[in-house]
Amino acid sequence: MSAFDIYCELDGALDGSVSCDERMSRHATFHIGGPASLFIECASMADLTLVMSVLEKHSMPWSIIGKGSNLLISDAGCRSAIITLGKEFKKSAFVDTTLVAGAGIALSSIVQEAFKLGYSGFEFAVGIPGTLGGALFMNAGTRTEWVGSVVEAITLYSPEEGLVRRRGEEIPWSYRKSGIMRGEIILEAELSMKPGDIGSIRAKMEASLSRRKKSQPLSFPSAGSVFKNPPDESAGKLIESVGLKGYRCGGAQISEMHANFIVNTGNAKAQDVVDLIVLARNRVKEVYGIELQPEVQFLGF
Ligand SMILES: Cc1cc2nc3c(=O)[nH]c(=O)nc-3n(C[C@H](O)[C@H](O)[C@H](O)COP(=O)(O)OP(=O)(O)OC[C@H]3O[C@@H](n4cnc5c(N)ncnc54)[C@H](O)[C@@H]3O)c2cc1C
Repeated sequence: MSAFDIYCELDGALDGSVSCDERMSRHATFHIGGPASLFIECASMADLTLVMSVLEKHSMPWSIIGKGSNLLISDAGCRSAIITLGKEFKKSAFVDTTLVAGAGIALSSIVQEAFKLGYSGFEFAVGIPGTLGGALFMNAGTRTEWVGSVVEAITLYSPEEGLVRRRGEEIPWSYRKSGIMRGEIILEAELSMKPGDIGSIRAKMEASLSRRKKSQPLSFPSAGSVFKNPPDESAGKLIESVGLKGYRCGGAQISEMHANFIVNTGNAKAQDVVDLIVLARNRVKEVYGIELQPEVQFLGF
């Protein structure tokens, strides 16, 4: 069964959309990546249920993505279906001080909503691109604050169990790790908001944004920090100290501003980025004996 046959089965049957040979560079903040056999936007739970049954019937592998802000997608693309969450998964509503938000919603919208209503607890997330689903999977945040700590519960789709609701405290959140398994799709989260002082919320958000502007190469396409910070160390400082700041491979460069960012200077290939990742890892291992662990997620390799 070819991807085109699956396309024909889904086309016209979804509220969302399906396409073949979709250029994945359009769906990743790195602006890198070859075509995906199928790209499917599920606009509703009914879409997702149909898509899952059709993909399973045809044994087509799949991956879920959000805004692609933590992804390196291979130059060859993905011989699989790439799923993303649309319309129904971009809604949110307050129930008292709990924000019930769809996983497809942009994290920035949640930050803004919380700020407007004077809720604190989400200021750390200002400036993190991506969706709520991606942020939950990655447990996105800073070194000291992360999204998992405000989660009351998550609803996810598991191919084996169907819809599952997990309470926040059952999930083993840790630095850039949620314990949510690959193959599970986060659909919705209940987030706890604390009433706060609007002046302090604004001050914390402004300080965080100004730190980002000063330290991150925001004018180039990237996927944010490439490596996780090792305990009590900074991946960026380690890479800088082995002399790799500004180093280039093809169109990719270890940022001159922040050595834990690799930037696409215009025409980078995924392979250029991989070469820099391997180089930085090996050099830091040789000099310090520390094995840097990638934070960026690889798709299609
Ligand atoms: C300029 C810049 C700055 C950044 N700053 C930060 C920062 O300060 N802190 C930080 O933690 N990150 C940061 N990031 C990285 C990135 O924005 C976060 O990891 C973000 O949460 C990823 O969300 P996304 O929707 O783009 O996910 P994607 O990149 O699309 O996916 C990331 C992972 O999440 C999985 N995923 C996505 N959606 C779902 C879902 N619904 N269910 C299950 N799994 C899912 C994907 O399969 C993939 O493995 C930065 C990135 C950039 C480009």
